[in-house]
Amino acid sequence: MGVGLLYQEGYFEQYLNAAGWQQESYPINDYANQPVQPVPNADGSHMTVQVLIADETLTAYVWVADVGRVKLYLLDANHPANSQELRDLTDRLYGGDRRTRIRQEILLGIGGMRVLRQLGLNIAVVHMNEGHSALLALERARQLMQDNPSLSFWEARDILAAGCVYTIHTPVPAGLERFGYDLIDEHFPWLWKALGLTRDEFHDLGREQMGGYDLFSLPVMALKFASGANGVSQLHGEVSRMMWQWLFPDVPEHEVPVGAVTNGVHVQSWISREMGDLFDRYLGPRWRSESSDPEVWKSVEKIPDAELWRTHERRRERMVSFARQRLREQFRARGASPSEVESADEILNPDALTIGFARRFATYKRANLIFRDLERLKRLVNDPHRPVQFVFAGKAHPHDQPGKELIREIARTAADPDLRHAIVFLENYDMTIARYTVQGVDVWLNNPRRPKEASGTSGMKVIYNGGLNCSILDGWWAEAYNPRVGWAIGMGEEYNPGDEDAQDEIESQAFYNVLEQDIIPMFYNRGRDGLPREWLRKVKDSMIELSAFFSTDRMLKEYYERYYHPAYERYTKLTDAGLKTGRGFANWLEHVKDAWEDVEVVDVQVDGDSVNVGESLNVRAVRCRITANIKQKQRASCMWRVALLMLFIASPTQAER
Ligand SMILES: *Cc1c(COP(=O)(O)O)cnc(C)c1O
Repeated sequence: MGVGLLYQEGYFEQYLNAAGWQQESYPINDYANQPVQPVPNADGSHMTVQVLIADETLTAYVWVADVGRVKLYLLDANHPANSQELRDLTDRLYGGDRRTRIRQEILLGIGGMRVLRQLGLNIAVVHMNEGHSALLALERARQLMQDNPSLSFWEARDILAAGCVYTIHTPVPAGLERFGYDLIDEHFPWLWKALGLTRDEFHDLGREQMGGYDLFSLPVMALKFASGANGVSQLHGEVSRMMWQWLFPDVPEHEVPVGAVTNGVHVQSWISREMGDLFDRYLGPRWRSESSDPEVWKSVEKIPDAELWRTHERRRERMVSFARQRLREQFRARGASPSEVESADEILNPDALTIGFARRFATYKRANLIFRDLERLKRLVNDPHRPVQFVFAGKAHPHDQPGKELIREIARTAADPDLRHAIVFLENYDMTIARYTVQGVDVWLNNPRRPKEASGTSGMKVIYNGGLNCSILDGWWAEAYNPRVGWAIGMGEEYNPGDEDAQDEIESQAFYNVLEQDIIPMFYNRGRDGLPREWLRKVKDSMIELSAFFSTDRMLKEYYERYYHPAYERYTKLTDAGLKTGRGFANWLEHVKDAWEDVEVVDVQVDGDSVNVGESLNVRAVRCRITANIKQKQRASCMWRVALLMLFIASPTQAER
């Protein structure tokens, strides 16, 4: 099940004023018209949950949404028992200030765990997605200590960590939750008392030094409370190990316990009806139920090129008519003349090579990169035989001024008489716009500053719809790309801070080059039957090679097999009657930590005297003893032996292997 907040005003609706500046409006959601239900108490009344916010009690309604087979519980602070300030707490996603944010996260984490308990659910494994939910770990400890009065906080932590998984979703600082200690002191005295901690001990749970300041960091706390952690692509896993290495002193970077599970997309939510019907005919029904099986996708080979192309072209045409209709509405809303409104029907060409770019307008995503050389862009767009056109959409965070500048630049450029027929910005990016674009474009463009795109998912959505990706080798594309399935911009270079301008210049030129030399010629190279054979070969290779892996079906199996199930096994082992095993484990761990300085491995036996890369090797720590006063130098030189010893203690069978 999932737990979240129900925002009365959601995120925001976006429209642009005549100058191209993003404007935000916040229409009120009417829950009666949304797919949410009140969760009933036994007596039929609407269930609520209570949490302490500073010294005020907050009462929140509990709602539920059915998402497929999953229950999504949503908390809503707009309850008449609350002060006005607390009633407004769940008005907006990203609304208010830092105080609002920490209070939202108290409701989510602490309130969320309480709802699950009220529902009578005994949760074995929690998955904290980004630090926002991390306070749940403290409420979980509080509950366990309440049920087992002699348990210390540290014992509770060691036991509960076994059933706690944490996923890091971004390396970008704006996405990492950190709070000043004034807010911690304002909100948590009751909690550190309930946990039997001193103020200092509580402060240390999330301490992170940032530019001369100490902050309370939810990612830090989450890493300390999880026994499994991961980033959302292989590259992001590496970046995360580097970022959080400081939390694991003495552990080499590649051994920092943060793995990677690459994101995937929910195929059934993103594929067009037309393409789905085509797959039904040539792949059989299994592509819908077992999309992570690579065998299923091999049958894409059987789809005749003409049918694949016709299906894709139909979706491009639908996208163009959708975009024109939206543009008419946008023109009308800005008070354009009737003839101007009508001119929307001459914008975009249903047969032209169409490139899509739609995502949040965070600055690292560089939505304006293709506008660096306007003359070169104009030549490409206005080629009478081989035209190119672009569809843009995306919201900037309401407080992100540079992000809003990007939107304004695109809106202004799109109004240039030489470009306006071929470059459009669709307002109010949402899943509807996302569907029309990922289903209709020929090429999906992604040009973030590597390595800031943790994964990116919109490009995965085009795979199933017969589009191709052209992207910087960042996030998912760094592992998906090969020359058969799409195009790379650059070769995965990274630049130093301060070199942004040079980077933009080099990478925009690289994009124009790929577009001119590879993408455009291949798209317009048609056989006598009018089909772009080479292009369709690429589309099929992209579908055959990428579809299985970049589906949520594969992703969820991986979370289950590598994180959820092992966490479940660990947790159930440690939570036997009276928490006997769990307490024993926590005390053993304490003992090892205390004695660690004095551990010495005297002798290690290795089977065989040579080994090739990729072969396995038997290693045994045959004699070890704990001695006092080993010198620092000796310790460093036998670090790898100590690591083996640790493995040996934790799991003799694995060490044997
Ligand atoms: C897929 C999707 C995203 C995520 O796109 P990224 O490529 O990960 O930035 C964001 N918003 C909407 C509406 C989407 O459909």
